[in-house]
Amino acid sequence: MEKDSTKKDKPYQTVRGMHDILPKDEDYWRSIWEIGNEISEIHDFNFIETPILEAVGLFEEGIGEATDIVEKEMFSFKTKGREIVVLRPEGTAPIMRSYIQHHLGHFSSPLKVFYWGPMFRYERPQSGRYRQFHQWGFEVIGEADPFYDVQIMLVTLNFLKALGIKGLKIKINTVGCRVCRPTYRKRLVQYYRTQKRNICKDCIRRYEKNPLRLLDCTVRECKEIREGAPIILDYLCQACNSHFKEVLGLIEDNEIEYEPDPHLVRGLDYYSKTVFEVVLPKNADRALAGGGRYDYLGEVLGGRTIPAVGVSLGLERIIEYIKEKEIDPKRKKKPSVFFVVVGEEAKKKGLCLINKLRLSNIKVLESVGKQSLKNQLKIANKTKSKLSLILGQRECFEETVMIRNMKTGVQETVPTENIVEETKKRLR
Ligand code: AMP
Repeated sequence: MEKDSTKKDKPYQTVRGMHDILPKDEDYWRSIWEIGNEISEIHDFNFIETPILEAVGLFEEGIGEATDIVEKEMFSFKTKGREIVVLRPEGTAPIMRSYIQHHLGHFSSPLKVFYWGPMFRYERPQSGRYRQFHQWGFEVIGEADPFYDVQIMLVTLNFLKALGIKGLKIKINTVGCRVCRPTYRKRLVQYYRTQKRNICKDCIRRYEKNPLRLLDCTVRECKEIREGAPIILDYLCQACNSHFKEVLGLIEDNEIEYEPDPHLVRGLDYYSKTVFEVVLPKNADRALAGGGRYDYLGEVLGGRTIPAVGVSLGLERIIEYIKEKEIDPKRKKKPSVFFVVVGEEAKKKGLCLINKLRLSNIKVLESVGKQSLKNQLKIANKTKSKLSLILGQRECFEETVMIRNMKTGVQETVPTENIVEETKKRLR
């Protein structure tokens, strides 16, 4: 017999490197949204959201053609209208595009915004590295002052601390500017020319296309060679030198734990001057957040210099860490009531009453279907609801509802018309 081609051998699965966020993890995600929104408001950052699809050129020009993201990791495709678009791999270039497109600089100086949402990179999936992941970002656009470099670090640390994460450290470096970086790059290339035979294949490509990224390689042999490489601090121009010193001074004033890392360069070409990562001392290879200054991105995308600084936090990594350390997701939960219905008539009436309660801002849970009273009360117990409101045949006939205190077991009957006040009274 021919095989039924409509039947699948295996049910559909998520696409490789992508994952579902399931209800069991709701508390973690909600705590990020709630704390993130509060932290953003306290630090005076306003919400911005850009589309998930952008023109491919935005990232090719913005992030840089010789970066891993642009060379290997973009999910790009041609639309029916023959445009080449890309699922955004990061949030900063789109925000700079939006800043220029909507003249946001006229309305505030500087513009302080936050965003969150999914990012897409075609990376090799492994623990802590996905093809779709979420970032929360903060950007300050329109100011060159080191004050904002450090404010970006502070808002990141305050966010992570509010989530219950302790022992954070900033790894920091500067990548210089157009004046000083070329001289440093030349020196770096000179050094690596003598090492070409000893570096990995990827590094040979980096040597040709993007020599600063040679410092970023994680292969052991390359790391050893890096130890002898010149460091940018010896080549900084006066402006970059004093900017970096001022940033470090402010970091110390704010008692931020930090460690200068002369090899930190980061994977996006748009950075200038300050770059940093937020790490946990025992897990320094897996940063929870990364950012820096990107004073030239505005010029690349819009033709004029727009100084800016920002950060993005990797939400999956943060949640993985919170889980690993068994940190309680900090969520203020609303007390709930469980609505029990017994019989068809009660189910019909119950729907109206449940809606009335919800319109009065009361959190109501239910599990109708064919469940018995006993089973529904069992579920109510599991959900840790404070009260159960029970509507059976008798209550329907008498136009009453029974309210059961789930802790004491005490039951009281109240008229249906007073259901909202009577419930609220008992929830206080
Ligand atoms: P980046 O945009 O590369 O500067 O990364 C900022 C942060 O996003 C990192 O510190 C990670 O926490 C997170 N991140 C970056 N790439 C991934 C990925 N492929 N999967 C999960 N998290 C990521």
